[in-house]
Amino acid sequence: MAKIAFLGLGAMGTRMARNLIAAGHDLTVWNRDPQKADALREAGADVARTPRAAVADSEFVLSMLRDDIASRQVWLDAEDGALGGLREGTVAVECSTLSVDWVEELAELCRRRNTIFLDAPVVGSRPQAEARQLIFLAGGATEAVSRAEAVLLHMGASVHHAGPNGAGAAAKLAVNTLFGIQVAVLAELIEAVRYRGFDPARLVELVSATPVCSPAAKAAAGAMLLNAFPAMFPIEIVEKDLGYALSIAEKDESTPLASAARNVFARAINEGYGADNITGVVQLYRLPGS
Ligand code: NAP
Repeated sequence: MAKIAFLGLGAMGTRMARNLIAAGHDLTVWNRDPQKADALREAGADVARTPRAAVADSEFVLSMLRDDIASRQVWLDAEDGALGGLREGTVAVECSTLSVDWVEELAELCRRRNTIFLDAPVVGSRPQAEARQLIFLAGGATEAVSRAEAVLLHMGASVHHAGPNGAGAAAKLAVNTLFGIQVAVLAELIEAVRYRGFDPARLVELVSATPVCSPAAKAAAGAMLLNAFPAMFPIEIVEKDLGYALSIAEKDESTPLASAARNVFARAINEGYGADNITGVVQLYRLPGS
């Protein structure tokens, strides 16, 4: 079993770290809010005071952080940043959903320290993280993917090599963009049909029985009808990811649909739905009393 540092114990990170402990790895964890590390300590992890202290002597360093700002802070902080503590040959794996530009920059910084870097964001939300069913989309050298695979498979069901550093991030942003666009348009259609006096549940039943409807869209449409939106993949995070997806393209005009979807989720945040699950975007179109 490996000596692993895990940085970032939010909703996803806590579940992933727990699975590494359950698999028997020697885990040291760190989180900005130290209280969130207490449960992991009870489960058997060592808790470090800083990212740099966490990574000392680790064979693998995994991070699961909110966004580019958090990742930059945790890896590069001049005093406490993880990068400064990596030893030669360590495999650093960024599992957060981040921009391709930042991931490529971090990969280059790791290369200069003779450490190996993978961007390996995940497809799947909290239930999949809990059940070890995440899908990793890895960007980096083939040898690095092979080295990390056994560890990643203790948190997920599969690891796919997308290409060089940055390609994993790009693939993940593509998945989320496709999902975000589908959910945004389903929200419009469900409420438009309701407005016309038809049964939205019947619409969802019929559309989701056709080959054009993806399993994820079907599940999202069903959740919209239930009118409860407990956060799994919160709207704030969806909007962040769509923003990063737009930054892959050279020109804004090349991404009109992703741009439109991002604007819809930004509006949902402005209207107070940011902490709701992605499916809560349907609330934008609800008529009073419906
Ligand atoms: P979360 O519950 O909000 O956790 C965010 C984590 O980032 C926490 O550990 C938080 O620390 C840390 N963080 C935020 N800002 C920071 C900063 N400035 N410096 C240091 N640490 C900071 O989010 P999550 O749902 O676990 O998501 C984590 C990542 O996974 C994101 O990149 C997200 O896009 C991706 N993802 C999420 C899902 C999903 O369904 N939720 C699915 C796939 C991928 P504190 O505890 O101190 O705030």
